[in-house]
Amino acid sequence: MEKARIGFVGLGIMGKPMAENLIKAGYQLKVYNRTRSKAEPFKALGATVSDTPKGAAIDSDIVITIVSDTPDVQQVVLGPDGVAEGARRGCIVVDMSTISPEATREIAARLEARGIEMLDAPVTGGQKGAIEGTLSIMVGGKKEAFDKCLPIFQAMGKNIVYMGGHGAGQTAKLCNQILCSLTILSMAECLVLGAKAGLDLEKLLQAVSGGAGGSWSLSNLGPKVIEGDFSPGFMVKLHQKDIRLVLDLARKLGVALPGTALVNQLFNLVEKEDGSLGNQALIKPLEKLAGCEARKK
Ligand code: NAP
Repeated sequence: MEKARIGFVGLGIMGKPMAENLIKAGYQLKVYNRTRSKAEPFKALGATVSDTPKGAAIDSDIVITIVSDTPDVQQVVLGPDGVAEGARRGCIVVDMSTISPEATREIAARLEARGIEMLDAPVTGGQKGAIEGTLSIMVGGKKEAFDKCLPIFQAMGKNIVYMGGHGAGQTAKLCNQILCSLTILSMAECLVLGAKAGLDLEKLLQAVSGGAGGSWSLSNLGPKVIEGDFSPGFMVKLHQKDIRLVLDLARKLGVALPGTALVNQLFNLVEKEDGSLGNQALIKPLEKLAGCEARKK
């Protein structure tokens, strides 16, 4: 069977390597990015650069979007010159951003009225997972649409799970963000105490990363912290967007999430300094309180 033609909207920290992996897997891509300079290098990889999300959708079988927040997905999919204006009936729109499950169901219904399918397929695994093609992808929407898109997901990720109807992928992703938030907090507390107690932090990471307290955050963000590297794999402001979605869903369902709420408060302090820092900067307010920095010697 001929390979699906793919429109790809959003070439940021995550979208760029994900699109590159699709090209490596042999897919023909039409890419769009709001800041065009990020799209231009894709010409050399054989992709077509479109001027609008609509342009990326024309003649595509599948259109992937990975932009920042709920209003951004609404804009690139349903707004003027959006994907819905270019997509033909039978096209599948796969939103891989992390956004509101409720809004996802609304977008899916609007697209369905135009004969366009939608899947919500948010990802986890960070920039590293996007580059290495090892993302976990959790998917909501119709199972037939999922089956059609599975080879595409396999070009970007390793652990691909069909969660159920529209919004189920986004709901799973919000549960995942609780785990990410609290493992970053535990990484930060571990390193601050170790630093204040005078431990060699490289040795500390070596000792604890593979044990019962290990986590993705500890293994990937701990080394960055002790190097003093606060560049973003995932920006604090986007992490805060996710936490707001988590807390909003928890409030609606009457669920208490005290740990996640605490991380939200600490990130508020980091955002006052700079929301574009990587989320490992959660350690900064703890360092201030402890009166020491957790850096390698
Ligand atoms: P990013 O580097 O800031 O990229 C965001 C992308 O969205 C950029 O291409 C940006 O275009 C585009 N965009 C934003 N608003 C837009 C709008 N209104 N119209 C058109 N384009 C718009 O962020 P990222 O880290 O790749 O995150 C993208 C999504 O993946 C987010 O939903 C995030 O929560 C999720 N995610 C991120 C990670 C991670 O570790 N980074 C992990 C899992 C999930 P410009 O280039 O013009 O700004």
